[in-house]
Amino acid sequence: MPQKLTALLANNRRWADKMESARPGFFTSLLQQQAPQYLWIGCADSRVPANELVDLAPGELFVHRNVANVVVHSDLNCLSVIQFAIDVLKVRHIIVVGHSQCGGVSAALRDQHVGLVDNWIRHVQDVRNRHSAWLQTVAEAERVNALCELNVVEQALNVCRTTVVREAWQRGQDVVVHGWVYRLHNGLLKDLTMTVGRLDDADAVYEEALAAVHGRYAEPPASG
Ligand SMILES: [Zn+2]
Repeated sequence: MPQKLTALLANNRRWADKMESARPGFFTSLLQQQAPQYLWIGCADSRVPANELVDLAPGELFVHRNVANVVVHSDLNCLSVIQFAIDVLKVRHIIVVGHSQCGGVSAALRDQHVGLVDNWIRHVQDVRNRHSAWLQTVAEAERVNALCELNVVEQALNVCRTTVVREAWQRGQDVVVHGWVYRLHNGLLKDLTMTVGRLDDADAVYEEALAAVHGRYAEPPASG
């Protein structure tokens, strides 16, 4: 097995040439300051590359990714990203992005044992357990995707409840939290309408977004 990743480095040279010829001075212009308007909190899954999905160039999207796009109240890694994004970069939007057929969500749903990551996925199991009665009403084939959407809504609510976001809202800084899901089968993002611009709205918007998830996965009424 070759030890050097020659192909990737060659790809990189071609990519940098292409960027620079399309927009001369592109890289030197980014040296001064990054000024992204958006923070993306997504899954680490290789099929969900943040910048590509929304067709944004380097410098336009601040990104944090982990298994199953989880926002844990005590995760200093994610909290630091949120804090830097809000306080220093002054991003206007924080988007929690899940995706269909998420392996982490699937493992959480089915109690699969994968290893150390089981401990991380416990947070998704908390979501599963909170909504277990409703999940039982969903057709089994759809249950993973239903939990993917519930997980986005719950993690977006967690973002709203972080001290960093609450304090930003208290001082009047414009920050809007969003929840989206990416569909692997067609490459399209769907807005789950978990869109919160102030703490007072969070619980009501959460309930509406949950109701919308429920509506999407409701069994069609029996005919006759
Ligand atoms: Zn995933």
